[in-house]
Amino acid sequence: MSDTTPSNIQEFEYKAEMKQLLNLIVHSLYTHPEIFLRELVSNASDAMSKVRFARLTESGEAVDAEELKISISVDKETRSFVIEDNGVGMTEEELIANLGTVAKSGTLGFLQAMKEQQAGGQLDANLIGQFGVGFYSVFMVTDEVCVETRSEGSDACRWRSTGEGTYTIEKIDRSERGTRISFTLKEDAAEFAEEYRIENIIRKYSNFVDYPIYLDGKKL
Ligand code: ADP
Ligand code: MG
Repeated sequence: MSDTTPSNIQEFEYKAEMKQLLNLIVHSLYTHPEIFLRELVSNASDAMSKVRFARLTESGEAVDAEELKISISVDKETRSFVIEDNGVGMTEEELIANLGTVAKSGTLGFLQAMKEQQAGGQLDANLIGQFGVGFYSVFMVTDEVCVETRSEGSDACRWRSTGEGTYTIEKIDRSERGTRISFTLKEDAAEFAEEYRIENIIRKYSNFVDYPIYLDGKKL
């Protein structure tokens, strides 16, 4: 590649079932958009448990309690939403495998149950509670998501998608291990830029998360 290459951004297509899945999630959950927060917090928590587990099995050491935390920040003026964790992060290959295909347990189970219920002619809102419906529920509240992530020993990457068939990945500078997910909330999701709203949702859905959650620097 020459020095004049404008960027290192690569574009990828979602696997075939993805569009269908995204549509289904967004349209079946639209009465509960706050689910997106539960899902992002649960993924952050899983990523940190992987660090804790790896440290324990590889070196027999426990991770410092302060080392692992989830930080959320919101801005009412710009409707910006950011959630960051210092969990395992993802390599480029993991980004493609994890955010570009329908392979994950919760989402697949949800998809299957939705299909069965649709075939039976009725949809049950309780389904939402029974499955982790995953990362893609974020597209209920935003039109474009940015995921910046670094796994120990790998280059950091930025993944971006509007959830409409393609996503891009580029190498970035990031020294911290972990993942930062950021987006601008849609106008009709502006309520999720309100601290009190975020706090309430976390108390409702994520009260039992093992790691501290900070909202705009304050511990919840
Ligand atoms: P599930 O959590 O059921 O596997 P999701 O759609 O919520 O499905 O997430 C898909 C995958 O993306 C996760 O299994 C994980 O591998 C990866 N992932 C999502 N968020 C993060 C994160 N914050 N840190 C590291 N990996 C993540
Ligand atoms: Mg998940």
